[in-house]
Amino acid sequence: MKLTPLDPWIGEKINHDDLRAWQLDKLNETLELARGKSAFYKKHFEGLPETLSTLDDLRQFPFTTAEDIRENPLRFVCVPQGEIQRIVTLQTSGTTGEPKRIFFTADDQELTIDFFSVGMSTLTEPGERVLIFLPGETPGSVGDLLRIGLERKGRKPIPYGMVKDPFHALDVMESQQADCLVGSPTQILSLARRWNPTHKAPRTILLSTDYVPAAIVNVLENIWGCKVFNHYGTTEMGLGGGVECEAHRGYHLREADMLFEIVNPETGEPVPDGEYGEVIFTTLTRRGMPLIRYRMGDRSRLIVDECPCETKLRTMEKIRGRFSGFVSVGDETLKLPDFDEVLFPIQGLLNFSVTVSGSGGDEFLLVEAQMLTDEDSTREVEQAVESLSSKRKIVKCYHNPNEVGSLLKRVILDKRS
Ligand SMILES: [Zn+2]
Repeated sequence: MKLTPLDPWIGEKINHDDLRAWQLDKLNETLELARGKSAFYKKHFEGLPETLSTLDDLRQFPFTTAEDIRENPLRFVCVPQGEIQRIVTLQTSGTTGEPKRIFFTADDQELTIDFFSVGMSTLTEPGERVLIFLPGETPGSVGDLLRIGLERKGRKPIPYGMVKDPFHALDVMESQQADCLVGSPTQILSLARRWNPTHKAPRTILLSTDYVPAAIVNVLENIWGCKVFNHYGTTEMGLGGGVECEAHRGYHLREADMLFEIVNPETGEPVPDGEYGEVIFTTLTRRGMPLIRYRMGDRSRLIVDECPCETKLRTMEKIRGRFSGFVSVGDETLKLPDFDEVLFPIQGLLNFSVTVSGSGGDEFLLVEAQMLTDEDSTREVEQAVESLSSKRKIVKCYHNPNEVGSLLKRVILDKRS
């Protein structure tokens, strides 16, 4: 089994055998910077120790939340405005209002490029052609940073952008003879469902952006006979938290730059390794806007057994959903990821949305599915949803093959609890 390239990279970066000692040094530097320069952290950490002597000492510090960032993102910034190279605005759906803004310096972006270049060498070889279905026109955007990272390691990036017309994207895939695709699960699925089997199939795929339904991975592997890799990295994490190795046992974590914790979401207390909880992370090397004990809301656990690749890094199981990813319909509580797992295996299904309508004991589920052909799949969709919920449901199947993602959002459920 090939060793994950993350190990030698981190070894070189920390120039040290003891990763935990490096993390503690960097954590103390981050705390000093944050308290000295950020109005938010100065107040947030009032009365807490100046210097930590163990990583566990961090547990007495309060969490930082998305709400804190929304309220006043500028209060997090630790460098003069002129040093901010890029600001990413994250729109939030629903009624929560203000968008989140995340600030990066040029050095912060360099950390991301460095991680991308190493992470992508897990699944690509020098000279391979990588088609990037991510926004990349703006300098410093995710697709742009990935392009730079790939070039550094002798790969041939082909920036494309988000898929609007899947047939055009498939033409480019064939004319460019792409070896590897990078994109969101539903976009890549929309290509696989329409792919011409006489054309070249990709050898590897990296699915990025939010969590990845296992059902989509299975469909892609069956159609293309390719290897599908997952990556964990939100904008808040500086786009890279960890990446799978060939053993596909979870993400090997980017531990020189980030400290991860898993806590009980109710009590905030750490859970033992191997048990499920909420993912919390702390940035160790970011200067523009360090995030300390940031609550991701994602549910996962650390994997305790050794990976066949013999990495020394900690490994986090694939994200299976968010703690907010539940919806109540009458007396039933439904998990969003469960819809993905039962609906995506349906032949020809491209995307779907689920909404709760009605009230006062008369709630019902409205399931809208975007299908590849106009063949009537209503019954199959109904049956799949029946396996999850006994509530009344209305199923609508649309045939709209030229549009991806515009007709239907990913899973959007009214959050009623
Ligand atoms: Zn491994």
